This record gives sequence, C-alpha cells and structure tokens, in this order.
Amino acid sequence: MTVAVLDRAADLPARLPPVLRERGQREVFCGLTGIVWLHRKIQDAFFLVVGSRTCAHLLQSAAGVMVFAEPRFATAIIEERDLAGLADANEELDRVVDRLLARRPEIKLLFLVGSCPSEVIKLDLSRAASRLDAKHGETRVLNYSGSGIETTFTQGEDACLAALVPEMPAAAPGAAPSLLVVGALPDVVEDQFRRLFADLGIPAVFTLPPRRAADLPPVGTNTRFLLAQPFLGDTAAALEDRGATHLPALFPFGVDGTTAWLRAAAAAFDIAPDHFDRVVAPGRARAARAIARHRDRLAGKTIFFFPDSQLEVPLARFLANELGMVPVEVATPYLHRAHLAADLAALPAGTQLVEGQDVDRQLDRVRAYRPDLAVCGLGLANPLEAAGIATKWSIELVFTPVHGFDQAGDLAELFARPLDRRDRLAV
Ligand code: SF4
Repeated sequence: MTVAVLDRAADLPARLPPVLRERGQREVFCGLTGIVWLHRKIQDAFFLVVGSRTCAHLLQSAAGVMVFAEPRFATAIIEERDLAGLADANEELDRVVDRLLARRPEIKLLFLVGSCPSEVIKLDLSRAASRLDAKHGETRVLNYSGSGIETTFTQGEDACLAALVPEMPAAAPGAAPSLLVVGALPDVVEDQFRRLFADLGIPAVFTLPPRRAADLPPVGTNTRFLLAQPFLGDTAAALEDRGATHLPALFPFGVDGTTAWLRAAAAAFDIAPDHFDRVVAPGRARAARAIARHRDRLAGKTIFFFPDSQLEVPLARFLANELGMVPVEVATPYLHRAHLAADLAALPAGTQLVEGQDVDRQLDRVRAYRPDLAVCGLGLANPLEAAGIATKWSIELVFTPVHGFDQAGDLAELFARPLDRRDRLAV
C-alpha cells in the first residue's frame, strides 16, 4: 500500500516546506544490525538473536569479519519444527542459554534479541528473559526486539539502550547533578568528549551504554542528558520517566554541531562562557582546518538522502552549513521533531523533508533530480551507480567515528570520496 501526504506540523520551522510523509515499500536493514557496534561497546555483554538462518547470515555479513577471539553474539536458530509448533521453543532456548553461560561465565549481561521469526511465532522473550534471569544469578538477562517488521536499523540501538534504563541504579536523593551522554560512541570519541567535559569543569560524566555491564550509571532528577545520536527516542523517553532532563542541542557533527552540543552541557552546569570558549577553541580550529580541505570538492554539489540511518537531518545541516552542499531531499525513517528541533531550524530554507519511505517514488524523484551524491542503503547503491549517480552507503556513517571536533574532517571526507572517485573514473 502506498500513502503519501503533506504534513505541515506546527513545530516545523516556517522556512521549510511541508514534510512529505510516505508509507510504502521500504529498503532498510533491520535492528539486528546494531549488534555489530553494540557488542564492541559493552565488553562483557552477549547478544543472542532468537531468529532464523537469515538473521544469522545478516549478522555474519554485517559484522564482516572473522571472529578470532570468543564471539560476543550468536543466533539461536528457530528451526522449522519450532515454526510448525512441533517443538517447545522455550525449552530449546533455555538449553541454548544454559550451555552458553556454562561455557562463558565471563558474560555478565545477556540480551535475548527478538527477530521477525520470533515475533511471528509469538515467542515471549520478555518472559523468557525473566525466567532465565532468575535461573542464572551471575548474569543479568534482558531482552529487546531487533525485528525488521517495524524497525529500521538504528532502532536496534534505541531498543537495546531503552532495555537498560530500568536497570540503572537510582541516583542518591540530593546527589550533585551529573551529565549522561546517551548513545554508543567509539571509545576514542568518548574519551575525547570526556577530556573536554573535564576541561570545562563538569565533574560527574557518565555514558549509556557503559563499557562494562556493572558500570550502569545512576539516574534521577539530577541527571542531565545529551543525546549523541538522533535515533534514541525510546531511550530518551525512558530516561525522562526516571526523572532525567534532556539537554536539547544540535547533534555533535562538525564545528557548529559539536560546539552547540558541548555548550548545552556547559550551560546546564553553569560554566562561564569565556571559559567555554577557551576550552573549545583548539578543537574548533582543528575541525575547521580539517573540513576546509574538502570544501572545494563539496561546495555547490547537490545531495539526496534516502531514509535509512536517521542521521539524515543533522548530516544535511552539517553538509549545507559547513561545506556548502545543497540538500535537494532529506528523507528519514522517523522525524523526531523535538530531538531534531535545533537541526531542523538550521537547515537551509526550502529543504524538502520526507518522513518514511516509498522506495519507487523516491527512485523516480532521485532520477529526476540527478543529484551529485545520493546517501542510501546498500541495496540501492548499485542501481543508482549504474544510473550514473554517485552514492554513499549510509551504514558507513554509523560504523565510522564521525562525532566531535577531531572526526569532523573524516566525516566531510566520507562525502568527498565518492565524488573524487567518480571524477577519477571519468578521466
Ligand atoms: S530480524 Fe527479520 S529482517 Fe532482520 S534478518 Fe531476521 S528475518 Fe531478516
């Protein structure tokens, strides 16, 4: 079924045309993909997908590496006997988990990750997680869904982090305010931000997810949180339910985004503006120099975003305002107007936003626009390249360190490289 409606929401900046909302066929990876970066982040966690051979293949190919050490994810495959109701899937799952935890006592947090098949046979993974949690005292067992029936690929991280929020200890009443950075960042980027927060004078800084399961941060009314990613709506709502306060800001991409994001934290902790300026000045200068190297290549080039990673709006803002690119269409699976408010307000006037997907219509439009660059999922890249349109895989933007001052040049380069390659192939 195809539905396309124009939606003029009251909270959309007046400079932007109405959002085109589409509900048609989608071309996105499912939420299981998030396991590829989450398993590297929480080092004593294990992700057990309860799914089919397709799920196992997706994970193996998305991880894209041979695992030489003990792996930290696997798929408990639902066989045809389970699908036909001939076997008790719960008993089989218990057996798999018993074996896994007996062999791998270092696992402190086990996620049972739901999939399309587990949802189709209505396997209740939340009950299974409670049962197994009670049985295996040393290992916390939680569940979330990575199913492709209702998710896009970055929602897997949102579902995982939202499942962790109820596990976070309550902050002591009257505790000093603390800052929580929400969203899985590569360790190197997280460390850079920690150094900046320390230099600013913000004493208590925590991250969700933590690197180890036992280090889940405290949460309460004195928690102020920054979202590092724009796709964490459920996690943010769960944190707010526990009394935490969201600090709205641009997302930390490029000079402007990173500065505004850090400034939101500085303002919440009463850091003097001149001290803030002094602390961020070297990073701003480094980022500006690194970005400048790519401006000639990118300025004036048109870019079309297919809806995929949910990073589309902040990236379009960065590419337009700091590199002079021209976003002709910015589509995103879901438009969280509150979390994206600052980025939406900073988009160039007239930017056409699309929420959701009807892939055939989008392909018609991209062929009509003939942008210099299309940002899309892996499945669309080859046909677009064959049609003469340079592409960037949106999944790379999640696998590559792109946040903060010291990654701003690399982020710009990710968009410059396909144009470079096209030019070189043309000569
Ligand atoms: S969860 Fe669904 S969409 Fe994802 S790999 Fe498994 S079957 Fe495919």
